[in-house]
Amino acid sequence: MQHIIDRFVSYVTIDTESDPSSNTTPSTSKQWDLANKLVEELKTIGLQDVTIDDKAYIMATLPSNVNHEVPTIGFISHFDTSPDFKGANVKPQIVPDYDGKDIILNAEQNIILSPSYFKDLLQYKGQTLITTDGTTLLGADDKAGITEIVTAMEFLINNPEIKHGKIRIAFTPDEEIGRGAHHFDVEKFGAEWAYTMDGSQVGELEYENFNAAGAKIIFKGKSVHPGYAKGKMINSLLIANDFINELPKDETPQETKGYQGFFHIHHLSGSIEETILELIIRDHNKFKFEKRKNLIAKIAKKINKQFAKQFGEDIVVAEIKDQYYNMKEKVLPVKHIVFIAEKAMREIGIKPIIKPIRGGTDGCQLSYKGLPCPNIFAGGHNFHGKYEYVPVESMQKAVNVIVKIAELTADGAYQQTETKSKKS
Ligand SMILES: [Zn+2]
Repeated sequence: MQHIIDRFVSYVTIDTESDPSSNTTPSTSKQWDLANKLVEELKTIGLQDVTIDDKAYIMATLPSNVNHEVPTIGFISHFDTSPDFKGANVKPQIVPDYDGKDIILNAEQNIILSPSYFKDLLQYKGQTLITTDGTTLLGADDKAGITEIVTAMEFLINNPEIKHGKIRIAFTPDEEIGRGAHHFDVEKFGAEWAYTMDGSQVGELEYENFNAAGAKIIFKGKSVHPGYAKGKMINSLLIANDFINELPKDETPQETKGYQGFFHIHHLSGSIEETILELIIRDHNKFKFEKRKNLIAKIAKKINKQFAKQFGEDIVVAEIKDQYYNMKEKVLPVKHIVFIAEKAMREIGIKPIIKPIRGGTDGCQLSYKGLPCPNIFAGGHNFHGKYEYVPVESMQKAVNVIVKIAELTADGAYQQTETKSKKS
């Protein structure tokens, strides 16, 4: 346990906040500080082919210790932290034998991590929690994942009686700004499938995410002195308002959950002459996703028709761009990769929690680049803020899951589940 704590603390105390406004990779040069340290550590624990490229993507190999053919599998996490909250000067607090009561993160500023608000805390009574000091995020997202992968590899190296095939691991920059998979060399990685260790609570196993698109809608207008405007002025602000009113009222993020999709307006600005509306479209279902995009085009068309005579050209221009797709499509044909993770969890007494992600992961982009990649829990809670915490026991469980997946794969479990799923 102390070993995991020490390793985790050594990572989170290095600031690796990413920056969406930067065009470089990694987006912030400070991410190299942890990346370089990780490379040294991977070499020290005895991994092979440890590489880091000019964009700070790290890869390494644990060679197979069996004579028979086993598919190469991978484990991936990201070392940047979210720009949503301060990631510098993280001072982790260790709370041993958590008593189920309020945890004072910062007495001076009266910042309290309370189970009356964060009910999940209560399931960790008696465990060792790592929290922030209330002034920064923790960075368990996703340095818990890195801790787990490194610890699992070290464990397999030190316990050669546990049989496994070739394992590849990778750590990426800039996941939090949506670019973690952008420069990921799937071919070089060379795994048949992989898992991101980037989920939240113990048991989480995810292989479905949203299909995603973004739309920028431009409304034009005609400005005329309000006193002389009758029949002449066209107010683009009001047309944007008409457009919004045509969207289904109850299909917003705040009104939906589970598999329900939505339209989410996140930007609106303008004046009489021009208004710009930006929204995102999300749906797990491919067909419904297309329908949502069509609705945007249909509303634009309707308004354009209304103003065709008066304005003379299209008064609404909708630009819709696909952002990412549901990885389910790429994972279902190789469903055994989910079965193995599920089986691994059950065999060590963890109940798998399988639910759709209401967002995207690096794994979904990787899945479309040819590396099917479900997401597994890393153990942390309340990501991207000062209430972030992680139970050490959860990290240990994730380590055990990685080891078990390696073992089951070498055992041929992927073949068993495959034939079973074919029969049923
Ligand atoms: Zn993450």
